[in-house]
Amino acid sequence: MPEEVLVQAASEMLDWPDANGKRCGMGVMEMSHRGKEFTSICAHAESTLRSLLAVPAHFKILFMQGGGLAENAIVPMNLNALRAQPGQRGQTDFVVTGSWSQKSLQEAGKYSDTHLAASSQASGFTDIPDPASWEIRQGASYVHICSNETIHGVEFQALPDLKALGSDAALVVDFSSQVASRPVEWSRIGLAFGGAQKNLGPAGLTLVVVREDLLGHAMAICPSAFNYQTVAANGSMYNTPPTYAIYMAGLVFDWLQRQGGIAAMEVQNISKARALYQAIDSSGLYSNPVAAHCRSRMNVPFFLRTEALNDAFLSGAAAAGLLQLKGHKSVGGMRTSLYNAMPLTGVQALVAYMQEFERRHA
Ligand SMILES: *Cc1c(COP(=O)(O)O)cnc(C)c1O
Repeated sequence: MPEEVLVQAASEMLDWPDANGKRCGMGVMEMSHRGKEFTSICAHAESTLRSLLAVPAHFKILFMQGGGLAENAIVPMNLNALRAQPGQRGQTDFVVTGSWSQKSLQEAGKYSDTHLAASSQASGFTDIPDPASWEIRQGASYVHICSNETIHGVEFQALPDLKALGSDAALVVDFSSQVASRPVEWSRIGLAFGGAQKNLGPAGLTLVVVREDLLGHAMAICPSAFNYQTVAANGSMYNTPPTYAIYMAGLVFDWLQRQGGIAAMEVQNISKARALYQAIDSSGLYSNPVAAHCRSRMNVPFFLRTEALNDAFLSGAAAAGLLQLKGHKSVGGMRTSLYNAMPLTGVQALVAYMQEFERRHA
């Protein structure tokens, strides 16, 4: 979270001021979600996000709950039947480039006829298979990708163009850890989803952006609160939305506007990632195994020459105020997350510490 946003939220917690600074006598957590105050907060968050991410008018923005993992079930329940014969399970195809897309494939198997179109498991998830090699079925309703694998640090630098690959399937993108870090190629996307907690705001809010023509195909068993058409028809207020998380995300969207928008964030994110990868690649102690063309700007895993140095590295880092560097347990080593709220000075402090640690352990 940007510190500026936390300070603002703290000052508004007990008595929320409207755009003219007029206090209303209650905090956001105390408002009715249908009252005029919260309605204005929600509408402002949505319109700011639409302009920030340049979401075209024929896409709906939905504020939901359940996180990225719930979407692994909600997406197939809503979309698997898009191109299915009546009475048959729809076909859903997956490109598996790390833990998150692997989880999506497994969950979708409960609701649809799944198929592995491509996988980089053989390389230990350090690469993205060339889209020309993907085996997409002709009848697939959608193709799922994870545009940034948060654990393995593998990122699509451009989204695949399914039309150019000869497929009419919709592209579904899990952009939980990529959203708002760079512009989005909406012309290639049918639906994108992401938990807010990586780059948009606090946990509890899930963002879904869906092309209108994909609505209205949900399975009969799909819970009404998770039916995109129902949620869209009710302006994300079919049931009580996560009001405080929406408010906080709205403050983050305002902050992003003040930074110069997504294009400015992208420039900043490129500099941050470049500084860290350069430090890793020029050292004899650290390494990152991901292929250069798909290294993530948001999550940079790296390994020390020997696991035996990990504890010393982490405790020295903590003493220097550098926190949350331990890698995911499935991968080991270290992981740095460079989300929008992390300033370049934070990366420079990490690089300085890494260089000093290397000198001490040469
Ligand atoms: C964190 C993450 C998720 C899981 O999100 P939850 O909100 O914990 O369900 C899914 N996909 C990706 C790419 C993630 O980074």
